[in-house]
Amino acid sequence: MTDPRTDDRSVIGIYHVTRSYGDHHALDDVSLTVANGEFVFLVGPSGAGKSTLMRMIYMDELPSEGQVVVGEYVSTRIKRKQIPHLRRRVGVVFQDFKLLDDRSVFDNVAIAMRVTGAGSFDIKRRVNQVINQVGLFHKRRDYPDQLSGGEQQRVAIARALVNSPAILLADEPTGNLDPEVTEDILRLLFKINSGGTAVLMATHDHEMVRNFGQRIVHLRDGKLYEDRRNAELVGNLSDRLDQIQLERQRTRRVDDAIREHQRTSAQNRAAMPLTDPIVEDVVGSVVEPASEAIREPLHERLAPIPTPASEEDDNVS
Ligand code: ADP
Repeated sequence: MTDPRTDDRSVIGIYHVTRSYGDHHALDDVSLTVANGEFVFLVGPSGAGKSTLMRMIYMDELPSEGQVVVGEYVSTRIKRKQIPHLRRRVGVVFQDFKLLDDRSVFDNVAIAMRVTGAGSFDIKRRVNQVINQVGLFHKRRDYPDQLSGGEQQRVAIARALVNSPAILLADEPTGNLDPEVTEDILRLLFKINSGGTAVLMATHDHEMVRNFGQRIVHLRDGKLYEDRRNAELVGNLSDRLDQIQLERQRTRRVDDAIREHQRTSAQNRAAMPLTDPIVEDVVGSVVEPASEAIREPLHERLAPIPTPASEEDDNVS
């Protein structure tokens, strides 16, 4: 077997890492590597050790045993004064955004670059570029309390990206966001990854990420429970998200149409013509009878495709 440390494509190496707090092992002999430009979901229930693993990678804490290697930085040898340099290579995003309320969007992002000693011309150019990249250029002068949760997370992502890190760590970045905003944030992370940044995203929501086909590293009770790639599903992440979003829109449109139809047919008992081709396609024959039988939510209706009217007629006769 090849020693992963000789793989120069690895940007993160975790080697037999144990992290103890008193008698408790938050991480227990965990080993894995992350390749340059890879996208990895880190899953596991609350308390599994995901945040602790992230902290090991940006070296907020050091392992009790074992070794972490991030680029040229090695946990057993790193000096305190080198930590800020490591942090420029590793952007971090948290569930609670951690923005400064008394600074504008621009300043929240700029602060991460100012501490590097960059000049004001470079700061202005790069900060505007990265704010634009997360889709918030028009809000660059706003303050965090003027932004939605999803927008605040975008600012936090911009701040994490401003020093062009090789690695982006996102610790439950969608934990405070509703499902649609979650998809937007996932899409943004996929886009960032497609630009070559390795992304490690922690989430307790295994269900949400299991169908993307990306590598999933599963922690339980501080141990590496599973590390797998679903080869069959590997493909373009954004395309797959598009499909999920289309399906959701389609379900909503059909639900709305059925609700509207029930409302109007209850009023005048006349069938409402369906004009949306997708809705017609999916529920045309269901909606046609305009009956009170259509009461269950659409997602329950969608699964069994209704028998075409002509076949039903044949059966009845
Ligand atoms: P997750 O991010 O998967 O929810 P954590 O990494 O936050 O899990 O925590 C893993 C375990 O380590 C938990 O049991 C937690 O209580 C414990 N733990 C984490 N950090 C500390 C700490 N600083 N002191 C004591 N225990 C901790």
